Amino acid sequence: MASNKNIMKFFTHLRKKISEFKKQIDPSSLRMRLTVGVVTLSALGLGGVAIWTSLRMQNILVVTHKQNIQYIADRFPHDVEIYSDMVLLPNAMQKAIDRRTTANILLWIKNQDGIVLAQSDPIEMGIKGRDLLSLTQVPPIPEIKQVEGRYWLLCATPLEVKGNRLGKFYIAQDITGDQTMFLRLIRNLSIASLLSIAGITVALAIYVGRSLQPLQRISKLTEKISAEDLKEAHIDLENPPSEVKELAQTFEKMLVRLSDAWEHQQQLLSNVSHELRTPLTIVSGYLQSTLRRGHNLTQPQREALEIASSEANRTIQLMQDLLDLARVDSGRMHFQIEAIVLNDFIEEIVGMAREYCNRTVNVKSSSKTMIVKADINRLKQVLLNLIDNAVKYSDDREPVTVKLARQGAKVAIQVSDRGIGIPLAQQARIFERFYRVDDDRSRATGGTGLGLSIVKTLVEGMGGSISLRSQQGVGSTFTVTFPLTSSSVSNNYLTLKSK
Ligand code: ADP
Repeated sequence: MASNKNIMKFFTHLRKKISEFKKQIDPSSLRMRLTVGVVTLSALGLGGVAIWTSLRMQNILVVTHKQNIQYIADRFPHDVEIYSDMVLLPNAMQKAIDRRTTANILLWIKNQDGIVLAQSDPIEMGIKGRDLLSLTQVPPIPEIKQVEGRYWLLCATPLEVKGNRLGKFYIAQDITGDQTMFLRLIRNLSIASLLSIAGITVALAIYVGRSLQPLQRISKLTEKISAEDLKEAHIDLENPPSEVKELAQTFEKMLVRLSDAWEHQQQLLSNVSHELRTPLTIVSGYLQSTLRRGHNLTQPQREALEIASSEANRTIQLMQDLLDLARVDSGRMHFQIEAIVLNDFIEEIVGMAREYCNRTVNVKSSSKTMIVKADINRLKQVLLNLIDNAVKYSDDREPVTVKLARQGAKVAIQVSDRGIGIPLAQQARIFERFYRVDDDRSRATGGTGLGLSIVKTLVEGMGGSISLRSQQGVGSTFTVTFPLTSSSVSNNYLTLKSK
């Protein structure tokens, strides 16, 4: 039972390793291409050498036997001729055969009708070459043939004695021993070649992988470089090949150029936002006072002024958001961190929101005092932004809830609505700059797509974090979390007031 479990474990582990390995195999990677290229060349080289060696060896092996057979074929008619002077022709043929027969060489003569006229020792023939006698297609030049599981070097030449054509003279030399040894050698050579190709593949894959490590490092280092740390970015490589070193240097120079361009862009953005915000604020002020005092305005005039005023306000907000982002990006955003009693602070913010949005905003505070360290103005900006979104993206009749809760060593401020929610696929991108779930809807609600990215930047800048839980058609909850300070005391409101 236990061993079964171990086997199952082993196979699961193996399957996991194989799938990990498969993931690493990228056919278009430089590592793969170099390895496959060099391995193919090595395989071709090794294979070529192995084939050439085997052909040479076979040649050397067969050539001596061939010479021997050729010698017998050449001498045999002469032998028969000599014996025929002493005995009758059939006996002469048999005598000549007996003379040339050895342990490995079998000889026989067949007449034109295929009848055997003489042959080597019939017992020997019977044991080794029974099927040899029945062969019909025997080449005139010695060739290797496999008969009855043995290897034979075979040839047949016409036999002419004293001008008489007697038939065909067959020679068969048993080379099973040599041929088996040769085949074993070829098999060993093939195994050795395959093993060395496998070894070369593994060694090469490791070597190429190591050689490409500096490139992977460059890619990893550059992945981490954000727009903010372009200037400080430095590509550190340990003993890189000169080509990669050159690439890294070119890359660093490009980063410096990018950083300069980024700074210029930030400066321009900051200046333009600043320059436009002041006149726009004045325009907005005039529009609002005209609307307040314009008792004799016609309805179309009032509507036009209201649209102009709301667009001016939207643009002022956009300028403010852009200014904030430019400050964050250039590192000019400074936080005045202080201890804030969240219980009081939340009540204050919700009070402001109720006035501003004209909506039901519920507070669920805690009886325990929760103190965090943050910039009070920035935290106010964060929460008002989240409440504003909750109001914008939910029905007028639905309440918005702000909840304060302790989560272990942290405190969470949750802003929830029962609004349209955010599709799961878009939740990961919601904090990106200028990202809107639905452009038309956001424009209609006066959104710029910058709010949440500023909120995230501010929260993280103050040492907190923000997360989202949302379901389309049900509602959204944004949770801002900060570490609790040690001075938070249970059931006891501190007199620490926010400045
Ligand atoms: P905007 O100024 O356009 O509201 P934000 O950065 O604040 O930009 O929000 C980005 C997008 O996230 C919005 O366009 C909106 O579609 C979506 N969103 C933000 N808050 C909520 C919410 N409480 N409920 C539903 N969608 C929201």
